[in-house]
Amino acid sequence: MRPLRLALAASEVAPFAKTGGLADVLLGLGRWLGKKAPQGPGHDVRVFLPFYQRIAKSGLKTTPLTGAQNIDVRFPQRTIRFSIRTAPLPQSEVPVYFIDCKELYDRDGIYTEDGDEALRFGLLSRAVLETCQRLQWAPDVVHCNDWHTALLPLYLRTVYAWDKLFAGTKTLLTIHNIGYQGFFKDSMLDTLGLGDQRAHVHHGDLRDGNLSFLKTGVLHATKLSTVSRTYAREIQTDEFGMGMQELLRSRSADLVGIVNGVDYGEWNPADDPRIPHHFTANDLSGKAKMKAAMLQRFQLPHDPRAPVFGVVSRLTAQKGFELFADSIPIFLQREDMRLCVLGTGEEKTEKYFQWLRDTWPNKVSIYRGFQEDLAHWIEAGSDAFLMPSRFEPCGLNQMYSLRYGTPPIVRRTGGLADTVDPWDPATRTGTGFLFDEFSSHALAGTMDWVLRNWRDQRGWQQLIKNGMQRDFSWDRQGPEYVALYRALTGA
Ligand code: ADP
Repeated sequence: MRPLRLALAASEVAPFAKTGGLADVLLGLGRWLGKKAPQGPGHDVRVFLPFYQRIAKSGLKTTPLTGAQNIDVRFPQRTIRFSIRTAPLPQSEVPVYFIDCKELYDRDGIYTEDGDEALRFGLLSRAVLETCQRLQWAPDVVHCNDWHTALLPLYLRTVYAWDKLFAGTKTLLTIHNIGYQGFFKDSMLDTLGLGDQRAHVHHGDLRDGNLSFLKTGVLHATKLSTVSRTYAREIQTDEFGMGMQELLRSRSADLVGIVNGVDYGEWNPADDPRIPHHFTANDLSGKAKMKAAMLQRFQLPHDPRAPVFGVVSRLTAQKGFELFADSIPIFLQREDMRLCVLGTGEEKTEKYFQWLRDTWPNKVSIYRGFQEDLAHWIEAGSDAFLMPSRFEPCGLNQMYSLRYGTPPIVRRTGGLADTVDPWDPATRTGTGFLFDEFSSHALAGTMDWVLRNWRDQRGWQQLIKNGMQRDFSWDRQGPEYVALYRALTGA
Protein backbone atom coordinates (compact mmCIF):
# COMPACT_ATOMS: atom_id res chain seq x y z
CA MET A 1 0.00 0.00 0.00
CA ARG A 2 1.31 3.43 -0.82
CA PRO A 3 2.39 5.74 1.99
CA LEU A 4 -0.17 8.37 2.91
CA ARG A 5 0.27 12.13 2.77
CA LEU A 6 -0.83 13.38 6.17
CA ALA A 7 -1.10 16.93 7.48
CA LEU A 8 -1.35 17.10 11.28
CA ALA A 9 -2.52 20.45 12.62
CA ALA A 10 -2.71 21.51 16.26
CA SER A 11 -2.22 24.36 18.70
CA GLU A 12 0.29 22.34 20.74
CA VAL A 13 3.15 20.03 19.82
CA ALA A 14 5.72 18.87 22.37
CA PRO A 15 8.38 19.88 23.08
CA PHE A 16 7.81 23.24 21.35
CA ALA A 17 4.49 24.27 22.90
CA LYS A 18 2.77 22.26 25.58
CA THR A 19 0.12 22.75 28.23
CA GLY A 20 -1.20 19.19 28.32
CA GLY A 21 -1.59 15.80 26.71
CA LEU A 22 -2.49 17.13 23.25
CA ALA A 23 1.12 18.22 22.77
CA ASP A 24 2.47 14.78 23.69
CA VAL A 25 0.07 13.05 21.30
CA LEU A 26 1.08 15.22 18.36
CA LEU A 27 4.76 14.53 19.03
CA GLY A 28 4.29 10.80 19.52
CA LEU A 29 1.85 10.19 16.69
CA GLY A 30 3.71 12.44 14.25
CA ARG A 31 7.04 10.82 14.98
CA TRP A 32 5.62 7.32 14.72
CA LEU A 33 3.71 7.91 11.47
CA GLY A 34 6.80 9.29 9.79
CA LYS A 35 9.20 6.63 11.02
CA LYS A 36 10.79 4.95 8.03
CA ALA A 37 10.03 1.34 7.16
CA PRO A 38 10.70 -1.36 8.27
CA GLN A 39 10.58 0.00 11.88
CA GLY A 40 7.73 2.35 11.12
CA PRO A 41 4.98 2.92 8.56
CA GLY A 42 6.92 5.64 6.68
CA HIS A 43 4.13 8.05 5.80
CA ASP A 44 4.71 11.54 4.42
CA VAL A 45 3.75 13.53 7.52
CA ARG A 46 3.89 17.28 8.02
CA VAL A 47 2.97 18.87 11.33
CA PHE A 48 1.60 22.43 11.47
CA LEU A 49 2.01 24.62 14.55
CA PRO A 50 2.01 28.39 15.16
CA PHE A 51 5.45 29.88 15.68
CA TYR A 52 4.62 31.20 19.14
CA GLN A 53 6.86 33.72 20.80
CA ARG A 54 8.16 31.08 23.21
CA ILE A 55 9.36 28.95 20.28
CA ALA A 56 10.91 31.92 18.51
CA LYS A 57 12.76 32.84 21.70
CA SER A 58 13.79 29.28 22.58
CA GLY A 59 16.80 29.30 20.30
CA LEU A 60 15.39 26.47 18.19
CA LYS A 61 17.14 26.30 14.86
CA THR A 62 14.58 26.67 12.07
CA THR A 63 14.95 27.37 8.38
CA PRO A 64 12.62 29.21 6.01
CA LEU A 65 10.70 26.73 3.87
CA THR A 66 11.35 27.43 0.21
CA GLY A 67 8.18 28.23 -1.68
CA ALA A 68 6.23 29.09 1.46
CA GLN A 69 7.33 32.62 2.27
CA ASN A 70 5.27 35.79 2.57
CA ILE A 71 1.92 34.18 1.95
CA ASP A 72 -1.01 36.58 2.14
CA VAL A 73 -4.28 35.28 3.53
CA ARG A 74 -7.19 37.53 2.79
CA PHE A 75 -9.82 37.96 5.46
CA PRO A 76 -12.63 40.48 4.84
CA GLN A 77 -11.28 43.10 7.22
CA ARG A 78 -7.57 42.55 6.83
CA THR A 79 -4.93 40.59 5.04
CA ILE A 80 -2.58 38.54 7.17
CA ARG A 81 0.84 37.54 5.98
CA PHE A 82 2.74 34.50 7.19
CA SER A 83 5.79 32.45 6.28
CA ILE A 84 6.72 28.89 7.11
CA ARG A 85 9.82 28.10 9.09
CA THR A 86 10.68 24.46 9.54
CA ALA A 87 12.53 22.12 11.88
CA PRO A 88 12.12 18.38 12.43
CA LEU A 89 10.29 16.80 15.33
CA PRO A 90 13.06 15.76 17.75
CA GLN A 91 14.67 12.43 16.87
CA SER A 92 12.83 12.18 13.59
CA GLU A 93 12.79 13.45 10.05
CA VAL A 94 9.18 14.58 10.26
CA PRO A 95 9.05 18.30 9.46
CA VAL A 96 7.18 20.73 11.63
CA TYR A 97 5.90 23.67 9.62
CA PHE A 98 5.89 26.61 12.00
CA ILE A 99 3.49 29.33 10.94
CA ASP A 100 5.47 32.48 11.46
CA CYS A 101 3.09 35.37 11.81
CA LYS A 102 4.26 37.94 14.33
CA GLU A 103 1.06 39.97 14.40
CA LEU A 104 -0.87 36.95 15.73
CA TYR A 105 1.62 34.69 17.49
CA ASP A 106 4.30 36.95 18.94
CA ARG A 107 2.56 37.00 22.33
CA ASP A 108 3.27 35.75 25.83
CA GLY A 109 1.00 32.72 25.89
CA ILE A 110 -0.07 29.92 23.61
CA TYR A 111 -3.65 30.86 24.34
CA THR A 112 -4.77 34.40 25.05
CA GLU A 113 -7.87 36.30 26.01
CA ASP A 114 -7.20 38.83 23.27
CA GLY A 115 -9.98 40.00 21.00
CA ASP A 116 -8.46 38.28 17.99
CA GLU A 117 -8.17 34.79 19.53
CA ALA A 118 -10.63 33.41 16.96
CA LEU A 119 -8.55 34.86 14.17
CA ARG A 120 -5.32 33.49 15.62
CA PHE A 121 -6.67 29.98 15.21
CA GLY A 122 -8.72 30.73 12.10
CA LEU A 123 -5.42 31.60 10.50
CA LEU A 124 -3.89 28.35 11.70
CA SER A 125 -6.48 26.39 9.69
CA ARG A 126 -6.11 28.54 6.62
CA ALA A 127 -2.32 28.56 6.81
CA VAL A 128 -2.32 24.76 6.59
CA LEU A 129 -4.32 24.84 3.37
CA GLU A 130 -2.48 27.82 1.90
CA THR A 131 0.85 26.12 2.52
CA CYS A 132 -0.34 22.94 0.83
CA GLN A 133 -1.33 25.05 -2.17
CA ARG A 134 2.05 26.76 -2.37
CA LEU A 135 3.85 23.45 -2.15
CA GLN A 136 1.34 21.78 -4.47
CA TRP A 137 1.23 19.02 -1.85
CA ALA A 138 -2.14 17.30 -1.70
CA PRO A 139 -2.73 15.69 1.68
CA ASP A 140 -4.82 12.53 1.72
CA VAL A 141 -5.97 13.48 5.20
CA VAL A 142 -5.78 16.66 7.19
CA HIS A 143 -5.91 15.56 10.81
CA CYS A 144 -7.34 18.40 12.91
CA ASN A 145 -7.16 18.45 16.68
CA ASP A 146 -9.53 20.18 19.09
CA TRP A 147 -11.30 23.47 18.48
CA HIS A 148 -8.24 25.37 17.35
CA THR A 149 -8.15 23.63 14.00
CA ALA A 150 -11.81 22.68 13.81
CA LEU A 151 -12.74 25.31 11.21
CA LEU A 152 -10.46 23.69 8.67
CA PRO A 153 -13.04 21.22 7.32
CA LEU A 154 -15.49 24.04 6.64
CA TYR A 155 -12.81 26.20 5.01
CA LEU A 156 -11.89 23.24 2.84
CA ARG A 157 -15.48 22.77 1.73
CA THR A 158 -16.10 26.43 0.99
CA VAL A 159 -13.23 28.88 0.58
CA TYR A 160 -10.92 26.26 -0.94
CA ALA A 161 -13.55 24.14 -2.71
CA TRP A 162 -12.44 25.47 -6.09
CA ASP A 163 -8.94 24.00 -5.81
CA LYS A 164 -8.63 20.58 -7.46
CA LEU A 165 -5.52 19.98 -5.40
CA PHE A 166 -7.82 19.08 -2.52
CA ALA A 167 -10.22 16.95 -4.58
CA GLY A 168 -9.18 13.80 -2.72
CA THR A 169 -8.46 15.39 0.67
CA LYS A 170 -10.45 14.12 3.64
CA THR A 171 -10.54 15.49 7.17
CA LEU A 172 -10.38 13.86 10.56
CA LEU A 173 -11.20 15.86 13.67
CA THR A 174 -9.96 14.44 16.95
CA ILE A 175 -11.58 15.70 20.12
CA HIS A 176 -9.01 15.60 22.89
CA ASN A 177 -11.18 17.42 25.40
CA ILE A 178 -14.77 18.47 24.88
CA GLY A 179 -14.46 20.92 27.76
CA TYR A 180 -12.86 23.41 25.38
CA GLN A 181 -15.07 24.28 22.42
CA GLY A 182 -13.87 27.63 21.12
CA PHE A 183 -16.95 29.80 21.70
CA PHE A 184 -17.15 33.21 20.08
CA LYS A 185 -19.78 35.70 19.00
CA ASP A 186 -21.24 34.83 15.60
CA SER A 187 -20.07 38.19 14.28
CA MET A 188 -16.65 36.50 14.18
CA LEU A 189 -17.85 34.62 11.11
CA ASP A 190 -17.39 37.82 9.09
CA THR A 191 -13.93 38.41 10.54
CA LEU A 192 -12.99 34.83 9.68
CA GLY A 193 -14.18 35.11 6.10
CA LEU A 194 -17.09 32.77 6.67
CA GLY A 195 -19.81 35.41 6.77
CA ASP A 196 -21.64 33.82 3.85
CA GLN A 197 -21.51 30.36 5.43
CA ARG A 198 -24.04 30.89 8.21
CA ALA A 199 -26.15 28.06 6.87
CA HIS A 200 -23.24 25.72 7.61
CA VAL A 201 -22.78 26.64 11.24
CA HIS A 202 -24.67 24.94 14.06
CA HIS A 203 -28.19 26.34 14.06
CA GLY A 204 -28.60 26.29 17.85
CA ASP A 205 -25.52 28.42 18.36
CA LEU A 206 -26.48 30.82 15.61
CA ARG A 207 -29.88 31.30 17.19
CA ASP A 208 -28.09 32.39 20.34
CA GLY A 209 -25.69 34.63 18.44
CA ASN A 210 -22.75 32.29 18.97
CA LEU A 211 -20.19 30.41 16.97
CA SER A 212 -18.52 27.24 18.24
CA PHE A 213 -15.38 26.16 16.44
CA LEU A 214 -15.67 22.61 17.72
CA LYS A 215 -19.30 22.14 16.70
CA THR A 216 -18.49 23.50 13.26
CA GLY A 217 -15.75 20.92 13.00
CA VAL A 218 -18.03 18.12 14.13
CA LEU A 219 -20.53 19.14 11.45
CA HIS A 220 -18.03 19.18 8.60
CA ALA A 221 -15.13 16.81 9.27
CA THR A 222 -15.27 13.65 7.19
CA LYS A 223 -14.71 11.57 10.31
CA LEU A 224 -14.43 12.18 14.02
CA SER A 225 -12.41 10.54 16.69
CA THR A 226 -11.72 10.95 20.34
CA VAL A 227 -9.03 9.56 22.55
CA SER A 228 -10.60 6.49 24.15
CA ARG A 229 -13.49 4.16 23.47
CA THR A 230 -15.20 4.97 26.73
CA TYR A 231 -14.95 8.72 26.13
CA ALA A 232 -16.38 8.25 22.63
CA ARG A 233 -19.44 6.75 24.32
CA GLU A 234 -19.52 9.22 27.18
CA ILE A 235 -19.52 12.39 25.09
CA GLN A 236 -22.75 11.26 23.48
CA THR A 237 -24.47 11.37 26.87
CA ASP A 238 -26.03 14.30 28.71
CA GLU A 239 -23.61 13.84 31.60
CA PHE A 240 -20.42 14.26 29.59
CA GLY A 241 -21.44 15.85 26.28
CA MET A 242 -21.17 19.47 27.47
CA GLY A 243 -23.92 20.54 25.13
CA MET A 244 -22.57 18.62 22.16
CA GLN A 245 -24.17 15.25 22.89
CA GLU A 246 -27.01 15.54 20.40
CA LEU A 247 -24.81 16.71 17.60
CA LEU A 248 -22.37 13.89 18.35
CA ARG A 249 -25.15 11.34 18.48
CA SER A 250 -26.20 12.48 15.02
CA ARG A 251 -22.68 11.59 13.81
CA SER A 252 -22.31 8.50 15.94
CA ALA A 253 -21.48 6.27 12.97
CA ASP A 254 -18.50 8.47 12.12
CA LEU A 255 -17.09 8.72 15.64
CA VAL A 256 -14.44 6.32 16.91
CA GLY A 257 -12.33 6.14 20.06
CA ILE A 258 -8.59 5.49 19.86
CA VAL A 259 -6.57 5.48 23.05
CA ASN A 260 -3.52 7.72 22.89
CA GLY A 261 -0.16 6.09 22.53
CA VAL A 262 2.70 6.69 24.88
CA ASP A 263 6.03 7.79 23.55
CA TYR A 264 8.30 5.42 25.44
CA GLY A 265 11.24 7.25 23.86
CA GLU A 266 10.33 10.07 26.27
CA TRP A 267 8.83 8.06 29.10
CA ASN A 268 10.89 5.01 29.94
CA PRO A 269 12.38 4.50 33.42
CA ALA A 270 15.14 2.30 32.00
CA ASP A 271 16.88 5.19 30.28
CA ASP A 272 14.95 8.40 30.99
CA PRO A 273 17.60 11.17 30.87
CA ARG A 274 15.46 13.37 33.10
CA ILE A 275 15.85 11.11 36.16
CA PRO A 276 19.06 10.23 38.00
CA HIS A 277 18.26 6.56 38.81
CA HIS A 278 16.97 4.03 36.32
CA PHE A 279 15.05 0.79 36.73
CA THR A 280 13.20 -2.02 35.01
CA ALA A 281 10.46 -4.44 36.02
CA ASN A 282 13.15 -6.98 36.92
CA ASP A 283 15.30 -4.63 38.95
CA LEU A 284 13.44 -2.05 40.95
CA SER A 285 16.38 -0.91 43.08
CA GLY A 286 16.59 2.31 41.06
CA LYS A 287 12.97 3.04 41.92
CA ALA A 288 13.74 2.91 45.64
CA LYS A 289 16.59 5.37 45.03
CA MET A 290 14.25 7.62 43.05
CA LYS A 291 11.82 7.63 45.96
CA ALA A 292 14.55 8.82 48.33
CA ALA A 293 15.84 11.40 45.86
CA MET A 294 12.38 12.74 45.14
CA LEU A 295 11.49 13.10 48.82
CA GLN A 296 14.72 14.96 49.37
CA ARG A 297 13.86 17.29 46.50
CA PHE A 298 10.43 17.87 48.02
CA GLN A 299 12.08 18.30 51.43
CA LEU A 300 10.07 15.53 53.05
CA PRO A 301 11.43 12.87 55.44
CA HIS A 302 12.13 9.52 53.84
CA ASP A 303 10.90 6.21 55.18
CA PRO A 304 10.75 3.31 52.71
CA ARG A 305 7.70 1.93 54.50
CA ALA A 306 5.64 5.10 54.14
CA PRO A 307 3.88 5.13 50.77
CA VAL A 308 4.30 8.20 48.58
CA PHE A 309 1.32 9.36 46.57
CA GLY A 310 2.10 11.49 43.53
CA VAL A 311 0.04 14.03 41.60
CA VAL A 312 1.05 15.71 38.33
CA SER A 313 -1.80 17.67 36.89
CA ARG A 314 -3.41 20.76 35.60
CA LEU A 315 -5.37 21.90 38.62
CA THR A 316 -8.81 22.33 37.07
CA ALA A 317 -12.28 21.11 38.01
CA GLN A 318 -11.92 18.31 35.43
CA LYS A 319 -9.24 16.62 37.48
CA GLY A 320 -11.50 15.99 40.47
CA PHE A 321 -9.31 17.20 43.32
CA GLU A 322 -12.36 18.47 45.18
CA LEU A 323 -12.76 14.82 46.20
CA PHE A 324 -9.61 15.14 48.32
CA ALA A 325 -11.40 17.47 50.76
CA ASP A 326 -13.23 14.80 52.73
CA SER A 327 -10.91 11.90 52.08
CA ILE A 328 -7.18 12.62 51.94
CA PRO A 329 -6.95 14.47 55.31
CA ILE A 330 -8.33 11.38 57.05
CA PHE A 331 -5.39 9.38 55.80
CA LEU A 332 -2.85 12.15 56.39
CA GLN A 333 -3.98 12.15 60.03
CA ARG A 334 -3.99 8.43 60.39
CA GLU A 335 -1.23 7.06 58.21
CA ASP A 336 2.46 7.58 57.78
CA MET A 337 2.28 8.58 54.14
CA ARG A 338 3.53 11.32 51.81
CA LEU A 339 1.80 13.37 49.14
CA CYS A 340 3.89 15.06 46.46
CA VAL A 341 2.06 17.39 44.12
CA LEU A 342 3.17 19.12 40.93
CA GLY A 343 0.53 21.29 39.38
CA THR A 344 -0.72 24.63 38.40
CA GLY A 345 -4.13 26.01 37.63
CA GLU A 346 -7.12 27.25 39.56
CA GLU A 347 -6.22 29.31 42.59
CA LYS A 348 -8.77 27.52 44.76
CA THR A 349 -7.11 24.16 44.19
CA GLU A 350 -3.59 25.52 44.52
CA LYS A 351 -4.61 27.05 47.85
CA TYR A 352 -6.16 23.80 48.99
CA PHE A 353 -2.91 21.91 48.37
CA GLN A 354 -1.04 24.69 50.11
CA TRP A 355 -3.32 24.26 53.10
CA LEU A 356 -2.63 20.52 53.15
CA ARG A 357 1.08 21.29 53.09
CA ASP A 358 0.82 23.84 55.89
CA THR A 359 -1.19 21.42 58.02
CA TRP A 360 1.02 18.37 57.42
CA PRO A 361 4.42 19.86 56.53
CA ASN A 362 6.19 16.55 57.06
CA LYS A 363 3.83 14.64 54.83
CA VAL A 364 2.74 16.97 52.03
CA SER A 365 4.71 19.02 49.58
CA ILE A 366 3.53 20.95 46.55
CA TYR A 367 5.41 22.47 43.69
CA ARG A 368 3.27 25.05 41.96
CA GLY A 369 4.23 25.43 38.33
CA PHE A 370 4.89 23.50 35.17
CA GLN A 371 8.13 21.56 35.21
CA GLU A 372 8.74 18.74 32.79
CA ASP A 373 11.62 17.06 34.61
CA LEU A 374 9.84 17.07 37.97
CA ALA A 375 6.90 15.32 36.33
CA HIS A 376 9.26 12.48 35.42
CA TRP A 377 10.69 12.40 38.95
CA ILE A 378 7.22 12.07 40.47
CA GLU A 379 6.25 9.28 38.09
CA ALA A 380 9.45 7.45 39.00
CA GLY A 381 9.68 8.21 42.72
CA SER A 382 6.07 7.74 43.87
CA ASP A 383 4.50 4.51 45.08
CA ALA A 384 1.06 5.31 43.70
CA PHE A 385 -0.40 7.99 41.47
CA LEU A 386 -3.65 9.84 42.20
CA MET A 387 -5.95 10.79 39.34
CA PRO A 388 -9.55 11.11 40.58
CA SER A 389 -10.78 12.85 37.42
CA ARG A 390 -14.38 13.94 37.04
CA PHE A 391 -13.90 13.20 33.34
CA GLU A 392 -10.80 12.15 31.46
CA PRO A 393 -10.82 11.86 27.66
CA CYS A 394 -7.75 9.63 27.69
CA GLY A 395 -5.22 10.72 30.25
CA LEU A 396 -1.55 10.11 29.76
CA ASN A 397 -0.28 10.30 33.29
CA GLN A 398 -1.89 7.04 34.34
CA MET A 399 -0.12 5.31 31.45
CA TYR A 400 3.19 6.94 32.36
CA SER A 401 2.59 5.81 35.94
CA LEU A 402 2.08 2.23 34.84
CA ARG A 403 5.39 2.25 32.99
CA TYR A 404 7.19 3.82 35.97
CA GLY A 405 5.95 1.20 38.42
CA THR A 406 3.57 3.61 40.14
CA PRO A 407 0.11 2.02 40.28
CA PRO A 408 -2.55 4.58 39.40
CA ILE A 409 -5.58 5.27 41.59
CA VAL A 410 -8.23 6.53 39.20
CA ARG A 411 -11.90 7.10 38.73
CA ARG A 412 -13.46 4.75 36.22
CA THR A 413 -14.13 7.27 33.46
CA GLY A 414 -12.99 7.85 29.88
CA GLY A 415 -9.51 6.65 29.08
CA LEU A 416 -8.83 5.81 32.72
CA ALA A 417 -11.44 3.07 32.48
CA ASP A 418 -9.83 1.79 29.29
CA THR A 419 -6.22 1.69 30.46
CA VAL A 420 -6.24 0.69 34.14
CA ASP A 421 -7.37 -2.75 35.27
CA PRO A 422 -8.40 -3.28 38.88
CA TRP A 423 -5.88 -5.07 41.07
CA ASP A 424 -7.16 -8.37 42.41
CA PRO A 425 -4.88 -9.73 45.15
CA ALA A 426 -6.48 -13.19 44.91
CA THR A 427 -5.47 -13.73 41.28
CA ARG A 428 -2.60 -11.20 41.37
CA THR A 429 -3.91 -9.62 38.21
CA GLY A 430 -4.60 -5.97 37.46
CA THR A 431 -2.56 -2.80 37.33
CA GLY A 432 -4.19 -0.22 39.60
CA PHE A 433 -7.17 0.88 41.62
CA LEU A 434 -10.49 2.22 40.35
CA PHE A 435 -13.58 3.74 41.88
CA ASP A 436 -16.87 4.61 40.22
CA GLU A 437 -18.84 7.21 42.09
CA PHE A 438 -17.58 10.78 41.96
CA SER A 439 -17.50 11.22 45.73
CA SER A 440 -14.99 11.66 48.55
CA HIS A 441 -16.53 8.63 50.13
CA ALA A 442 -15.66 6.46 47.13
CA LEU A 443 -12.12 7.83 46.99
CA ALA A 444 -11.67 7.25 50.73
CA GLY A 445 -12.83 3.65 50.38
CA THR A 446 -10.31 3.11 47.59
CA MET A 447 -7.48 4.75 49.55
CA ASP A 448 -8.25 2.38 52.38
CA TRP A 449 -8.05 -0.55 49.97
CA VAL A 450 -4.80 0.75 48.48
CA LEU A 451 -3.16 1.02 51.91
CA ARG A 452 -4.24 -2.47 52.85
CA ASN A 453 -2.63 -3.79 49.69
CA TRP A 454 0.50 -1.71 50.28
CA ARG A 455 1.09 -3.69 53.46
CA ASP A 456 1.41 -6.86 51.38
CA GLN A 457 4.65 -5.89 49.68
CA ARG A 458 4.95 -9.15 47.73
CA GLY A 459 1.59 -8.55 46.15
CA TRP A 460 2.51 -4.92 45.53
CA GLN A 461 5.64 -5.94 43.63
CA GLN A 462 3.49 -8.05 41.35
CA LEU A 463 1.09 -5.14 40.88
CA ILE A 464 4.03 -2.96 39.83
CA LYS A 465 5.27 -5.59 37.38
CA ASN A 466 1.85 -6.04 35.82
CA GLY A 467 1.67 -2.32 35.10
CA MET A 468 5.21 -2.00 33.81
CA GLN A 469 4.57 -4.75 31.30
CA ARG A 470 1.56 -3.03 29.75
CA ASP A 471 2.24 -1.69 26.30
CA PHE A 472 0.52 1.51 25.17
CA SER A 473 3.23 2.40 22.68
CA TRP A 474 2.49 4.09 19.40
CA ASP A 475 3.50 0.81 17.75
CA ARG A 476 0.27 -0.55 19.19
CA GLN A 477 -2.02 2.49 19.05
CA GLY A 478 -0.71 4.11 15.84
CA PRO A 479 -2.01 1.43 13.45
CA GLU A 480 -5.55 2.27 14.58
CA TYR A 481 -5.07 5.79 13.22
CA VAL A 482 -3.59 4.47 10.01
CA ALA A 483 -6.59 2.15 9.57
CA LEU A 484 -8.85 5.15 10.07
CA TYR A 485 -6.92 7.31 7.58
CA ARG A 486 -7.09 4.48 5.05
CA ALA A 487 -10.79 3.98 5.63
CA LEU A 488 -11.25 7.71 5.03
CA THR A 489 -9.36 7.81 1.79
CA GLY A 490 -10.35 4.41 0.53
CA ALA A 491 -6.59 3.95 -0.06
P1 ADP B 1 -4.41 16.78 30.23
O1 ADP B 1 -4.08 16.76 28.77
O2 ADP B 1 -5.88 16.81 30.51
O3 ADP B 1 -3.70 17.86 30.97
P2 ADP B 1 -3.01 14.24 30.36
O4 ADP B 1 -2.82 13.28 31.46
O5 ADP B 1 -3.52 13.71 29.08
O6 ADP B 1 -3.91 15.42 30.90
O7 ADP B 1 -1.62 14.92 30.02
C1 ADP B 1 -0.98 15.75 30.90
C2 ADP B 1 0.44 15.99 30.42
O8 ADP B 1 0.90 17.22 30.93
C3 ADP B 1 1.41 14.95 30.92
O9 ADP B 1 2.50 14.84 30.03
C4 ADP B 1 1.87 15.57 32.25
O10 ADP B 1 3.10 15.07 32.67
C5 ADP B 1 1.94 17.01 31.87
N1 ADP B 1 1.74 17.94 32.98
C6 ADP B 1 0.58 18.33 33.55
N2 ADP B 1 0.81 19.23 34.52
C7 ADP B 1 2.14 19.40 34.57
C8 ADP B 1 3.01 20.22 35.37
N3 ADP B 1 2.55 21.03 36.30
N4 ADP B 1 4.35 20.14 35.13
C9 ADP B 1 4.83 19.32 34.19
N5 ADP B 1 4.06 18.54 33.40
C10 ADP B 1 2.74 18.57 33.59
